[in-house]
Amino acid sequence: MDIIENFIDYVKIDTQSDESSNTYPSTIKQLNLAKKLVEQLQNLGISNAFLDKYGVVYAKIPANTEEAKDKIGFIAHLDTSPDCTGANVNPKIIEKYNGKNIILNEKENIVLDTKTFPSLLENIGETLVVTDGTTLLGADDKAGIAIIMNFIEKVLNSNIKHGQISIAFTPDEEIGRGTDNFNIKEFDSDYAFTLDGGSIHNIEYENFNAASATIKIHGVNIHPGSAKDKMINSILVAEEFNDLLPNDMIPSKTEGYQGFNHLCNINGNCEYTEMEYIIRNHSRAIFEKQKKDFEIARNILNHKYGYNIVEISIKDSYENMRTFIEKDPRSLNRIVNVYEKLKISYTFSPIRGGTDGARLTVMGLPTPNLGTGGFNYHGRYEYASITQMKKMVDILLELIQ
Ligand SMILES: [Zn+2]
Repeated sequence: MDIIENFIDYVKIDTQSDESSNTYPSTIKQLNLAKKLVEQLQNLGISNAFLDKYGVVYAKIPANTEEAKDKIGFIAHLDTSPDCTGANVNPKIIEKYNGKNIILNEKENIVLDTKTFPSLLENIGETLVVTDGTTLLGADDKAGIAIIMNFIEKVLNSNIKHGQISIAFTPDEEIGRGTDNFNIKEFDSDYAFTLDGGSIHNIEYENFNAASATIKIHGVNIHPGSAKDKMINSILVAEEFNDLLPNDMIPSKTEGYQGFNHLCNINGNCEYTEMEYIIRNHSRAIFEKQKKDFEIARNILNHKYGYNIVEISIKDSYENMRTFIEKDPRSLNRIVNVYEKLKISYTFSPIRGGTDGARLTVMGLPTPNLGTGGFNYHGRYEYASITQMKKMVDILLELIQ
């Protein structure tokens, strides 16, 4: 099947995940795509393809040579973001994109314009797929799935000598549960690549170290009319606490390799206030120092008020995969060689978040991320470049040789 045909088919299947659900997968509808993929894989002759009880699809192509070759895996996710509806997606194909604004929806005046989205200018001449302006597209991550499926078909119809190739399609990546039930043993690879997002010229093997912090502030409440020298308003102490943290280390003032502390929730009254922060940094050393800053702020305030007015608890969430990839750089070396051989330009871009691959890497399966030619994720301005998707198929075909 043609890569465009497959991609269009996949995005028309609603696979939105749901954070509030406690089931695996979080939504049954993700299985509609999972089952279709198993069927397609079996039709291609991969009889071992199956869907497990957690909604993960696994498949393997055995090695076809005696020569010792690495076992390589490829992973993409089935679900789309809960941020924007993925029902009734009505994709439109634009051949040889001319660099002008794209009218997504004439009636509602929804336009994909090059000023707001300058990445479009890098797509001139390419074949694009866009939305009708009312839903997301779901290139995140159905572009990844379409690339892998097209790649498999080409492998099976070629004479390429390769080692074992493992495939997995996972549910619930968008709600952070994509690897909760991932079976590394079943997957059986030396290393893997997630195909999830962005320009195909980005190779990603660095992400944040991440922690979350809960701050509890115990104030003293009393009638405001007779409060002099008695009341301690916990909301104002919360403000003091936040002021004691590095003021420029916040999301709106950082980019690239700069980490941050983000106050994402605050709730309270005079008597008691609770604050939630997330702490992020690519550098382990600075990350540890950021956590220390929280303790220092607590100590200052506890000393100032003369009792344990501030309590903090900090929990690590995920780690930067870079440290692990550097210990076992086979995946990275291999992909870089391919880009150089095919003379495709690349940059290493640090992910300002986490990925399923980061978790798998820490679990023992080194898994950098590759781009899929999808842009503006999680909203109505999402679009995909079929031209870049096809190029990524060529990259994967070279990678396994
Ligand atoms: Zn994704």
